[in-house]
Amino acid sequence: MSEGWDRRRVVEVDKRHVWHPYTPMKAWVEETDPLVIERASGSMLHDVDGRSYIDGISSWWVAALGHGHPRIVAAATDQLRTLGHVSMAGVTHEVGARLAEALVRRAPAGLTRAFFTDDGSTALEAAIKIALGYHRHRGARQRTRFLSVSNAFHGETLGVTALSGVATFRSSFDDVLMEVLFLPPPSEGAPSPELEARSLERLDELLEAEGERIAACVVEPRVQGAAGMNLHSPDYLRQVFARCRAAGVLVIADEVFVGFGRTGPFWASSSSGLSPDLLCSAKALSGGLLPFAATLTTEEVFMAFWGPPENALFYGHSFCGNPLGARVALEVLSIYEDERVLESVAERAPILEEGIARIAARVGAEGARSLGMIGAFNLGTSDYLEPIGKRIGKEARARGAYVRPLGNVVYLAPPLNVPLPVLRDLLAILEESVVAATSR
Ligand SMILES: *Cc1c(COP(=O)(O)O)cnc(C)c1O
Repeated sequence: MSEGWDRRRVVEVDKRHVWHPYTPMKAWVEETDPLVIERASGSMLHDVDGRSYIDGISSWWVAALGHGHPRIVAAATDQLRTLGHVSMAGVTHEVGARLAEALVRRAPAGLTRAFFTDDGSTALEAAIKIALGYHRHRGARQRTRFLSVSNAFHGETLGVTALSGVATFRSSFDDVLMEVLFLPPPSEGAPSPELEARSLERLDELLEAEGERIAACVVEPRVQGAAGMNLHSPDYLRQVFARCRAAGVLVIADEVFVGFGRTGPFWASSSSGLSPDLLCSAKALSGGLLPFAATLTTEEVFMAFWGPPENALFYGHSFCGNPLGARVALEVLSIYEDERVLESVAERAPILEEGIARIAARVGAEGARSLGMIGAFNLGTSDYLEPIGKRIGKEARARGAYVRPLGNVVYLAPPLNVPLPVLRDLLAILEESVVAATSR
């Protein structure tokens, strides 16, 4: 640590000046004894007291390749020396052009354009503004509404907060949000043919009654993350894509969490066999290192903005196309090739699935489910702020793992390349922690 700083001083100064995300600050200041992390490497976080923790949630789902990957560090360092940042206004650069090309090559068929943003929220914000502009420039000005799933999570700007249904994140802003039409959730945990059918039935009703007024439908393909790691089938996804397409409604795939191999294939959308009109990527895109994101779209959507200058997309961010982020993302893409990251997911996924099923069975938990490098089960009734999750987090910390249940949903989403012995340790720690927390 820097001279004059120790654990106590960091916590004291933090509690005086820092405002933490998603955090009831009274409890933070009065009760919380936070982890103070000094270093991270691979799948491990190391605190200032020399204790180590397995990062069971890839630091909020971003560190898909673990921490401090030597190739990412080298690429970032080299890029910083040459060009850390320049605006994209009247300017372009090699890494931006190369990244757009590389993303398009990787993307589902038909996606040919990359618009760069800062993070998952702004990737979605750009997507909804693009969808609105697309219809407006084609003379369908009445298409101003969006379709979403009632427990979806798409980020935190005011626009995308409207698309999100998780009450904890939404209810404080309900009065000022744009109107969104919601589908009932296709899942409340493990895949459910009944819930999928009910959700599709409602989709048909809404498309029938309101189809001409809807700009786009936004989905989290295969896994609704913040809702509680709720899984739905490839067929549900395919039906949503196909039915929206038939009604002239654009499909926005939010791959912020599920992209980059988290569910197995590179993009979770690909299991539908269809391509979305817009695809949002962030989190793992920049190796869990930097805020950097991209919204990909088709030539057809792009061409709607081709006309007179007033049809341009008047949208952007200071750090749009940031060369440092672009260089890191390029390196991440080549690491996926060189280190066969998707194969490493295929090897680890059955171990995670078996471990999650075993722990759930041992404590009588319901809804054990896994897909790729995501595994979850439910304990007790559902409430985002339920204390059981906090207790498990505490027990895991004492045993050397960092996990953060979503209320009563206990889940793991470790780095995709977590070493096998570390994955086994993580599962063992979770098992002991859940047993300890539930037997009190
Ligand atoms: C995290 C997340 C977002 C928001 O991304 P930020 O980078 O936190 O703004 C959007 N959609 C999904 C599915 C996410 O998991």
